[in-house]
Amino acid sequence: MKKINLPSEMTSVSLHAIGELVTEQRALPDIADDEVLLKVESCGICGSDIGRVFKNGTYHFPTVIGHEFAGVVVHDNEDEWTGKRVSVFPLLPCFECDACKAQNYACCNNYNYYGSRCDGGFSQYLAVKKFNLVQLPDNVSYEEGAMCEPASVACHAVKKLSISDGERVLISGAGPIGIIAARWAISLGSKEVKFIENDPMKIKFARSLGFDIMSDGEKFDCAIEGTGASAPLAMILKAVKARGNIVLMGNPGSEITLSPKDYQQILRSELHLLGTWNSSYADFDNDWKDTLKAISESKLVISDLITHRVPLTMAHKALAMMRDKKEFFVKVVTDNEK
Ligand SMILES: [Zn+2]
Ligand SMILES: [Zn+2]
Repeated sequence: MKKINLPSEMTSVSLHAIGELVTEQRALPDIADDEVLLKVESCGICGSDIGRVFKNGTYHFPTVIGHEFAGVVVHDNEDEWTGKRVSVFPLLPCFECDACKAQNYACCNNYNYYGSRCDGGFSQYLAVKKFNLVQLPDNVSYEEGAMCEPASVACHAVKKLSISDGERVLISGAGPIGIIAARWAISLGSKEVKFIENDPMKIKFARSLGFDIMSDGEKFDCAIEGTGASAPLAMILKAVKARGNIVLMGNPGSEITLSPKDYQQILRSELHLLGTWNSSYADFDNDWKDTLKAISESKLVISDLITHRVPLTMAHKALAMMRDKKEFFVKVVTDNEK
């Protein structure tokens, strides 16, 4: 068995209570037979981590947060994965429910999750199930591997639009997932993608990437609602052509309300509203493999969305910066080599 020299302790960023993020030394985790020991090289900070750390908490305390991560396998009892560079699908399915039996793992009703329900990627090392490992192509970086999670979520949503060549797509919310979704849409044949966005900095950034903002009265073939807010949804219902697909992706922060007139748009235009959740990790439809292939073949570019790279020990400061919106950011990732 290959044994890579390992330290006895590691640095982890763990949530001890709401708002109480602690950078601490921990013993390296033990690994089960179906797990490997991963040395985490990069972990993205997700918008959902801000809510998790400062408002909602994790399912129990303490929990190491971080569900967007990639690294190198430093120990595998069977040596199959040792030395391999990987990204990690963060959802741990139960494998027993109907959804799992259909390989529809995102809809599992009894799942575990790295970084929210169990320890995740804001750590130097983590025990990870072999089932969840996706090998990185040689020309895909660890940072891109960490961004494979949001890119797969965007991929999953865009696939549901069933875009035909030349279609125009509308997306609300020009955050990292919205921008990646726009790029997926273009790579899948869309002629033009426009955004609904209020934040002047996000508008400027989207424009710098060649994406404009929707004008009044414009019509689109299909749309992704990426904000989880009522007003952008109402705008989308008016802007999408009859029988168009609308994918609901944004997590609502509060009640979603529609006026009777806006609601009637769904009826009168016979709109197709589709939910999307997480990403597909099935043998027959794997958003993770599709994403890594597209990055590797330069059909999808995501690395230019990284605005901040911080060492793991500064992750808590980066989270506070994101909460307070002190600087403009798109994607913030840890670079554990720093
Ligand atoms: Zn996320
Ligand atoms: Zn299940």
